[in-house]
Amino acid sequence: MTKPTADNASNAAAKAEPVVPANFLRPIMQADLDAGKHAAIVTRFPPEPNGYLHIGHAKSICVNFGLAKEFGGSCHLRFDDTNPAKEDQEYIDAIKSDVQWLGFEWAGEVRYASSYFDQLHAWAVTLIEAGKAYVDDLTPEQAREYRGSLTEPGKNSPFRDRSVEENLDLFARMKAGEFKDGERVLRAKIDMASPNMNLRDPILYRIRHAHHHQTGDAWCIYPNYDFTHGQSDALEGITHSICTLEFEGHRPLYEWFLDNLPVPAKPRQYEFSRLNLNYTITSKRKLKQLVDEQHVRGWDDPRMSTLQGFRRRGYTAQAIRNFCEMIGTNRSDGVVDMGMLEFSIREDLDRTAPRAMCVLRPLKVTITNYPEGQQQVLELARHPKEDMGVRQLPFARELYIDRDDFMETPPKGYKRLEPGGEVRLRGAYVIRADEAVKDAEGNIVELLCSYDPDTLGKNPEGRKVKGVIHWVPAQESVECEVRLYDRLFRSANPEKSEEGGSFLDNINPDSLQVLTGCRAEPSLAQAAPEDRFQFEREGYFCADLRDTQPGKPVFNRTVTLRDSWS
Ligand code: ATP
Ligand code: MG
Repeated sequence: MTKPTADNASNAAAKAEPVVPANFLRPIMQADLDAGKHAAIVTRFPPEPNGYLHIGHAKSICVNFGLAKEFGGSCHLRFDDTNPAKEDQEYIDAIKSDVQWLGFEWAGEVRYASSYFDQLHAWAVTLIEAGKAYVDDLTPEQAREYRGSLTEPGKNSPFRDRSVEENLDLFARMKAGEFKDGERVLRAKIDMASPNMNLRDPILYRIRHAHHHQTGDAWCIYPNYDFTHGQSDALEGITHSICTLEFEGHRPLYEWFLDNLPVPAKPRQYEFSRLNLNYTITSKRKLKQLVDEQHVRGWDDPRMSTLQGFRRRGYTAQAIRNFCEMIGTNRSDGVVDMGMLEFSIREDLDRTAPRAMCVLRPLKVTITNYPEGQQQVLELARHPKEDMGVRQLPFARELYIDRDDFMETPPKGYKRLEPGGEVRLRGAYVIRADEAVKDAEGNIVELLCSYDPDTLGKNPEGRKVKGVIHWVPAQESVECEVRLYDRLFRSANPEKSEEGGSFLDNINPDSLQVLTGCRAEPSLAQAAPEDRFQFEREGYFCADLRDTQPGKPVFNRTVTLRDSWS
């Protein structure tokens, strides 16, 4: 008998209880509810509509919507739309549909920080009246100089001590459009010597003569992120304002505004570490550059790390949610391996995707001892474990197999077809390769084979047939296009480039391979956009959302059957 060791014991414990991936926010929320601090949890997901959502946002969505749902609370969708120059209605529409696709519902109407512009403006005036904000005329260059550095304190602006009256007058004239962009700003009067740079009289309002997608031309001054975010949270009664770690240094400012304004509630900000995935870009700005400079075919290109790209590639919302849960939520920075995301995809698709056969590089096979004009309809299960019914597959004299499944001089241990060798056709008979027919250049254009009629569904007695290959009937199969993808970046950390280079230098020139003239089994003629399959031996595939036509499917390879990353 083996003595139980600490390891054994903890293994036993791990088996007894399901492992709940660590999310440090869960106990905080539970404790707040237990203490009666809040009647219910209210969170928000606050994207800036300046691009499409990426996998990093999926993490934030799962955290915010997921925790709210778990605790029976609610989560708002709020567009953080304070920078009209970079924002667009197209992005708003895409973000809304992405959140829904991921499987979440926001509470109430979609919200916009811009709908609080009147209140924010009134609060800016409140700060001016209290002597806690002033209009500054320093040029951006001067302001930078006055700001100091991490090692040196800043200096007070010469405009810092303007009277309340003068500040009120100048701010009103800023709002009325009397000044040009960048000519003046409104700043909070906090502390130019603070070790936290965010507290060195941060900007509250800047002048931007720009049309806003929500407010039109009503404003030519816009509040910045810091002055908008916490107050919007307060106005909406957000209890836990969850953001990524780079905002940790902004928290004292977040709290300064809440402490110095007559806000209706005081939300608390919590930071967690952002999701970084190797081989992947998680920056809207850089993703936009890939689109604008046509390195990819759009925001939903299946190589993109956008949610729309992943969706078109065939990733499921369930798999992405599982992945976000699996990696946990914490405060330590790290890079997650792409293999983990693909693991989630395979795990979900293995369960949900019906099986089918598709020959990517067809090689004609003639079964010489199968009567011409004869056909036998075979029935194959759609799934080995789940009850998904059967599909019909005609077996006939002329078939296609994959070019790679025949070799004239195979290496040792080759389990597919070779001259004189046998192989099983999946769900059908054992065949033997008798002759390879070649064209004038010596390329194999056809195989002449014979089949053993006694081998349907069972191995011939005394003979071991190890290899099983996929096939389709020549006549009834459907011609289709198949797109194979490789990682979009060659480097595990694409953001890091050689001296003087950019992330674009890391683009993999061979990330897309388009195969035409592929042959899919007849049942796939009916594939609808977004239908997913496991093509036996080739991987998981998804009928393309845009390019699939009735009877003319186009398939994207979602993921290979095995991990090809490590
Ligand atoms: P990007 O740099 O790609 O534009 P962002 O943070 O500026 O990202 P926002 O639209 O402001 O984009 O993000 C909305 C929410 O998503 C924020 O709360 C932000 O913290 C979160 N978020 C963005 N990227 C990630 C990430 N990689 N991991 C986790 N959360 C993220
Ligand atoms: Mg941002």
